Amino acid sequence: MKLDKSKDLFKRAERKIPGGVNSPVRSFQSIDGTPIFIKRGMGSRIIDVDDNEFIDFVCSWGPLILGHNNQILLDELKVLGENGLSFGLPTEIEVEMAELISEAIPAIEMIRMVNSGTEATMSAIRLSRGYTNRKYILKFDGCYHGHADSLLVSSGSGTLNNGVATSLGLTEDIVANTLVCQYNDLNRVKEIFQQFGMEIACIIVEPVPGNMGVVKPKEGFLLELREICNQYGALLIFDEVITGFRVGYGTVGQQAGVTPDLITLGKIIGAGLPAGAFGGRQEIMEMISPVGGVYQAGTLSGNPMAMGLGFKLLNILKDNPDIYKELEAKAIYLETALNLMIEKYSLPVTINRYQSMISIFFTGEAVECLSDVAKCNLKNFKMFHREVFKKGILLPPSQYESWFLSAAHTNEELDQTIKVCEEAFKVVFDQ
Ligand SMILES: *Cc1c(COP(=O)(O)O)cnc(C)c1O
Repeated sequence: MKLDKSKDLFKRAERKIPGGVNSPVRSFQSIDGTPIFIKRGMGSRIIDVDDNEFIDFVCSWGPLILGHNNQILLDELKVLGENGLSFGLPTEIEVEMAELISEAIPAIEMIRMVNSGTEATMSAIRLSRGYTNRKYILKFDGCYHGHADSLLVSSGSGTLNNGVATSLGLTEDIVANTLVCQYNDLNRVKEIFQQFGMEIACIIVEPVPGNMGVVKPKEGFLLELREICNQYGALLIFDEVITGFRVGYGTVGQQAGVTPDLITLGKIIGAGLPAGAFGGRQEIMEMISPVGGVYQAGTLSGNPMAMGLGFKLLNILKDNPDIYKELEAKAIYLETALNLMIEKYSLPVTINRYQSMISIFFTGEAVECLSDVAKCNLKNFKMFHREVFKKGILLPPSQYESWFLSAAHTNEELDQTIKVCEEAFKVVFDQ
């Protein structure tokens, strides 16, 4: 496979852009590779600048649930652009989008639009502190909520009140105010609340984490978090930036029957344009400026292009619920075929799937939290990634990600993917 043009572009990029990329996971560093530069996408496929074609399981990390360059969305974009790109003044489409999302997710009584998932979670955290007048937040190790300071904290050992910064540039008080525990570890959550409960503003959680690979909540975990928050007067925030409108027309919270106080959205609601949102109970949302005292703003927030395209996509998803059934069927098809191989060759590999989100972990043990994910054999993952890449399958270039399927992926492409995976397993495990 020739990658000359990508390599040249990467050299140029490295001179002017830190690491050559505008977001770290694109660098392919975690698989010891260099990035491919993309020229165009069509349906389930992308073509790089060297004219290599890949079946794409990155799908822009989630937003492209219909695949690349969907014709209906492209046509809509042209119409939207003719009216103007941005006004910084209210537009009708913002009201329509707010009504549509609130109708789909009743827990969102009011909503504020932003430009990214990071802004959504950052604003929701500030709001939770403003509403409760408390300082601590509790998050889970391995859950990613964007790159706001207070959320870039994780914990090496799970030691109480001893969160470890994931980045330079964070002040000690920010790190100390973020409490961290392992996902699915309810006992730990209870211990932390026993000690700090009346000073905890919120629990923020990906109800189905997708950012340490796909991990599923244990039976009752989300409901217990709800009850603990009720007991101590803390807010429960579900970060559904990936899962919102991916797992179905709505959220994981709705599927689990657990109603959080605040919900953050992103990715799919922008349909590939930059958009995020946070919303929830009216009484809490009305703490936001200009009604309340929690400041939050954005020059391009509610941008009419992003709102218009997102509105179109959400309506397509609403009117075609079969899309979700088919997406899940495709993921089950992949899961079943991969599990058969794992059994047949006794491979130390574990598949986790929730609806259409699926991950392959290179460990033979169950994966229920980050310390389980940490047992993965990254050397094997890298080799596996390299083998399938050579044969035209683009998986997310990290062990810690979900594969993203789209409505455009065909059964033939899944069969091809399965065949290539089997060959790759043979190389990795030398069978
Ligand atoms: C992607 C993601 C974010 C951050 O969104 P950006 O648009 O990249 O800022 C936040 N939370 C979750 C769960 C995400 O997957």
